[in-house]
Amino acid sequence: MSGIAIGARLLVATHNRGKLEEIAHLLEPYGVTCVGAQEMGLSVPEETADSFAGNARLKALAAARAIGLPALADDSGLCVEALGGSPGVHTADWAETPLGRDFELAMRRVHRELESSGAPEPHRAHFCCALVLASPDGRSEVFEGDVAGRIVWPMRGDKGHGYDPIFQPDGYDVTFAEMDRWEKNRISHRGAAFDKLIAAVEAR
Ligand code: IMP
Repeated sequence: MSGIAIGARLLVATHNRGKLEEIAHLLEPYGVTCVGAQEMGLSVPEETADSFAGNARLKALAAARAIGLPALADDSGLCVEALGGSPGVHTADWAETPLGRDFELAMRRVHRELESSGAPEPHRAHFCCALVLASPDGRSEVFEGDVAGRIVWPMRGDKGHGYDPIFQPDGYDVTFAEMDRWEKNRISHRGAAFDKLIAAVEAR
């Protein structure tokens, strides 16, 4: 889409410091300074869409309109085939507890639901990431990436975050949580989505 050029300052529509730092690092070589939603005093919009791209668009547009600057948002999650694509857009919700997010609990739920489904192994799954770049006038552009693999049990590895210990990407015999961070970023859903975003920005 023409008309959205990443300027010197880009609002990243996330309240997650880790995500902000990762995105800032990825965009730094392109002369882009990232500003977080929290820093700008923005509230967290409800993620009411039924797709990753829909939720990322909702977050990016709300932020861009509030601030009057282009904004970037990402939404991601895990889709397990034998569970009909769940947890999907509810990936973060499966970890919610009254005391905060508990991903071990969420991974146990994936395992439990796979066991009760009786689905044969391998339990195919993929991670998805949607990045949306939005402008204050309402235009938006989406870049999506995914990585295919299988759900393994028990959990393995202590690197990474979220559901990494139960996801083994195709072509590897280690889980994301057993993998070097740079290797994971090279093949991950987020890495793939960023490659597309960067290619689009460079082509302008
Ligand atoms: P979001 O912040 O709404 O995009 O939530 C994404 C959810 O998917 C969070 O619960 C993350 O832990 C999970 N998730 C996304 N990407 C990854 C990944 O690379 N590894 C493990 N979990 C992930």
